[in-house]
Amino acid sequence: MQYPFLGTRINHGYVCRAAGGTAFFAAEALNQKNGVSHGFSTRLGGVSSAPYDSLNLGWSRPDPTENVARNFQIFCDAAQIERESMVIVNYEHGGTVLKVTGGDRGRGFDREPLAFCDGLVTNDENVVLITSHADCGAFFLYDPVKRAVGLAHAGWKGTLARIGARAVELMQKEYGSDPKDILVSTGPCICKNCFEVDLELAERFADEFGTKSLYEHGREGKARLDLEAAAAIQILDAGVKPENLTLMHACTYELDTYFFSHRRDKGDTGSMAAYICLK
Ligand SMILES: [Zn+2]
Repeated sequence: MQYPFLGTRINHGYVCRAAGGTAFFAAEALNQKNGVSHGFSTRLGGVSSAPYDSLNLGWSRPDPTENVARNFQIFCDAAQIERESMVIVNYEHGGTVLKVTGGDRGRGFDREPLAFCDGLVTNDENVVLITSHADCGAFFLYDPVKRAVGLAHAGWKGTLARIGARAVELMQKEYGSDPKDILVSTGPCICKNCFEVDLELAERFADEFGTKSLYEHGREGKARLDLEAAAAIQILDAGVKPENLTLMHACTYELDTYFFSHRRDKGDTGSMAAYICLK
């Protein structure tokens, strides 16, 4: 995939890592850094039945709670993270990013949910940040200098609200991070070819991010919108260096072996989860 309007120094692509009977998608640039662990779950290796087959990590689906709990255990074992350390985003498709600490461990999992938010940051090694996804993109952030991480859930609303840039800003404010030190990767996400929206929405993206390259005209009154490119623009605008940005280009709609897709499965599907933590 070519993005001439973003320059040529951005990293492209993902690695798929098999672990514990399931698999995770990840960014090679983050894998190569010491001190951080991250991944985006796949549907493989869980216990849920169709259409939630099989590693459904969404509590809000009509899938028995004990299945989801068992799936989370499989996810944690495979990712080598402690169940107790997870803090799960309480998403509302907004632009809010919250700082969390060790006192929040378990929130959204086996304790009360956080306030509504779509993104999280922490510098606590005892916390694993978690987001939920079914076509929506993710931002993984890591500052190896100040030792802090961030994670955000980004559907079209969060992307338009620049939630990735807001996570960078909160890391600057809370941890003194310099954007030039922060490594960022997007996660798997519905791609431009598969994401048809109203033309009016595509034009709002073009206005917000300053380029019509974000969409292509489709059927009458419709357009195909590139959320990942909008994600990239906001991260670069926030001061992250292009060579520190990875775009995974893994389409959740197309890669049906690996991913649930809200749009492909017409809403009757499971959820993936992303995680990032210091180590
Ligand atoms: Zn696609």
